[in-house]
Amino acid sequence: MNIEQLQLKNYRNYEKVDISFNDKINVIIGENAQGKTNVMEAIYVLAFSKSHRTPREKELIKWEQEYAKIEGRITKRNQTIPLEIILSAKGKKAKLNHIEQRKLSDYIGAFNVVMFAPEHLSLVKGSPQTRRRFIDMELGQIQPTYIYHLGQYQKILKQRNHLLKQLQRREVQDKTMLDILTDQLIQHAVILLERRFIFLDLLRKWTSPVHHSISHGTERLEISYIPTVEVSKSADKETIENIYTNKFHELKNKEIERGTTLIGPHRDDIVFYVNDKDVQTYGSQGQQRTAALSVKLAEIELICNEVGEYPVLLLDDVLSELDDQRQSHLLNTIKGKVQTFVSTTNVNGINHETLQEAQLYRVENGM
Ligand code: ATP
Ligand code: MG
Repeated sequence: MNIEQLQLKNYRNYEKVDISFNDKINVIIGENAQGKTNVMEAIYVLAFSKSHRTPREKELIKWEQEYAKIEGRITKRNQTIPLEIILSAKGKKAKLNHIEQRKLSDYIGAFNVVMFAPEHLSLVKGSPQTRRRFIDMELGQIQPTYIYHLGQYQKILKQRNHLLKQLQRREVQDKTMLDILTDQLIQHAVILLERRFIFLDLLRKWTSPVHHSISHGTERLEISYIPTVEVSKSADKETIENIYTNKFHELKNKEIERGTTLIGPHRDDIVFYVNDKDVQTYGSQGQQRTAALSVKLAEIELICNEVGEYPVLLLDDVLSELDDQRQSHLLNTIKGKVQTFVSTTNVNGINHETLQEAQLYRVENGM
């Protein structure tokens, strides 16, 4: 799939812009702080209805303006699909084929995007939150109902944490409500966990050969999902539910004492191993980056396999962060099949062959 056209109105530092794209490689060149990332971010928001940089949507609206609008025309399975996101103080509107979608989970998934930015290079060594966010975003775009369960889980988690704080301060004595919220939380936790296990299996399947190839056969990359409860990945729903129920029961007093929920998918993590050694602890910076790159490349294949078409790839400021060999590997993998956007301050960092196929855009102060 690809994005043919993008129109921005009051988005970040863009007042009004209308751009058509090449279906192969688009290189966005500009000095710092001119609006390169903003274009990539707008494409990302069109896919996910959320920014990869901030949870605060107000930041996306041009200063002193009331609203921001992103319109895009994408092609998928030989069909043209118009997409539109409008952000304002009143909230967010997402339109697919000109029809407003009340549930964002009905919108997300129509347009698939993989973003690779400098912060993703720290997927391996960064915080567990970064890794959870990665799983959630990727799973969400191939399985929109996952977003629904994640949203419900987060909502109940918030209520439960609030109640635990009240119980901790003895503002509330009765624990009946806690039990109700625990049951509700478990219902969604089971689904999230089950789907994450399946997703990790899929990811592993694609990451292994990719990493093997990038490392010229010298490294074996493994990924493990580490839940906060002891559960085997082949466990069925009922077993997972029982495990959570027992663990929550066991931790009840401790959770009240701490005033927060101590187990659940919001505290799980993933660990990467290269040749059986934990890369976060033992890997060199290069190995950590290569692992992150392998995961991103695997994601492209995984989405293609699930959706039937390659996603659009956004490479914001990362090409120059990769050495020649990794850069060539990346570009050879995507060549001719994935519409790609590359941002850079200097074209010298991009190999000659790539530039020959690319359409170049110069960005200056939101123009
Ligand atoms: P770099 O090379 O440093 O990554 P960039 O070209 O990617 O730069 P962007 O992140 O796209 O730069 O940001 C461009 C400009 O947008 C910045 O100067 C920033 O101050 C401005 N900006 C960010 N949010 C808004 C907003 N809501 N309204 C107006 N301008 C904004
Ligand atoms: Mg930038």
